[in-house]
Amino acid sequence: MGFFDKLFGRKKEQKVEEQKKEEQKLEQDELKEEVESIEQIVLEEVENIEQKLEQDEFKEDKQEEKEIIYTEKPKMEKRRFFTSLKDKLFKSREGLFGTLKNIFTGKSIVDGEMYEELEDTLVQSDIGIEMTLKIVKDLKVEVKARGVKKPEDVYPVLKDVLEGYLINENTKLDIQPGRMNIILVVGVNGVGKTTTIGKIASALVKDGKKVVIGAADTFRAAAVEQLEEWAKRAGAEIVKHPDGADPGAVVFDTLKAGEDKNADVVIIDTAGRLHNKNNLMKELEKINNIIKRKIGDQPYESILVLDGTTGQNGLVQARVFNEVTELTGFVVTKLDGTAKGGILFSISEELKKPIKYIGVGEGIEDLREFNSKEYIQAIFD
Ligand code: GDP
Ligand code: MG
Repeated sequence: MGFFDKLFGRKKEQKVEEQKKEEQKLEQDELKEEVESIEQIVLEEVENIEQKLEQDEFKEDKQEEKEIIYTEKPKMEKRRFFTSLKDKLFKSREGLFGTLKNIFTGKSIVDGEMYEELEDTLVQSDIGIEMTLKIVKDLKVEVKARGVKKPEDVYPVLKDVLEGYLINENTKLDIQPGRMNIILVVGVNGVGKTTTIGKIASALVKDGKKVVIGAADTFRAAAVEQLEEWAKRAGAEIVKHPDGADPGAVVFDTLKAGEDKNADVVIIDTAGRLHNKNNLMKELEKINNIIKRKIGDQPYESILVLDGTTGQNGLVQARVFNEVTELTGFVVTKLDGTAKGGILFSISEELKKPIKYIGVGEGIEDLREFNSKEYIQAIFD
């Protein structure tokens, strides 16, 4: 066969291959659309029946039907949430958490070798050596306590052990009606603070809250513009000063604007320059003092944003910020872009503070309230 024939043959093969992939993708998309449209129809149906039932409220024979519907509807919505969280976290499922399962399958006994393999896998992920040793130690205790004998039965125990590290209290933002709630957002450059603020603001506005955002990251020229864009998209107001202004002055003005406008929530964006721990501490101290002067002893949220793709570095950032300021919780971003995600367990376990939200994309809707059970289910099952 001549050179051109071969080349032509290969090109043709490639083309067939590409066509096949294209077709497969189309098929998958169609299937997804179909499932979604079926879900939509069922939801609409349920709503219809509900409306009808409301009219026949007191007809006893319908009561049973109504109960069934009320328990079915939330289930449906929950399933939708899972599907999409699972979709968003598919890298985590295929990465670390997918690999973990393999350790426990195809083995006949629970032995040191199996635990060593588990240690290796965990260390290679973002979990870190200290945390890995803790996990394996706790797992062994739990396996013994439950009398587990078969390797495949160790996997669900590991799931429980990991879930146990995730703090389950105060995972929701503390937003009280009838007062100005403040959310201070801190974290190093590039972790996703501004994006997260946009997403949170949008969710709050949708919930009927009046939101004012303060552009206290006055360090980079583009930062204010970017925040302005997000505020516009979210339907929130913004308070800004020219670049290079004093962040404290911005915070002061933002709180004043929030008060004047009767805002339900004030969110403050900050510049997280970590090159000097002392400077960082001083800057945050100043901002915290301005807030305290305004609201006295009332609590407010101080949220550290961490990039979920940076592994152990994220844990180091969490330690530093936790030392220099009083944090109330975390947001871990970019979990759509990592196959690891072990950082959630490390920060939760070490710093004993809740993860409030996770970021699963760059869009305004790509933020999820954190719930340990749902998260575990999305990455393991
Ligand atoms: P900041 O410097 O901390 O304010 O970070 P930015 O909000 O400017 O975000 C830095 C980059 O990360 C931007 O390109 C964002 O679009 C991106 N980003 C933020 N959150 C997420 C997320 O949850 N998923 C993904 N894939 N990208 C994100
Ligand atoms: Mg920013």
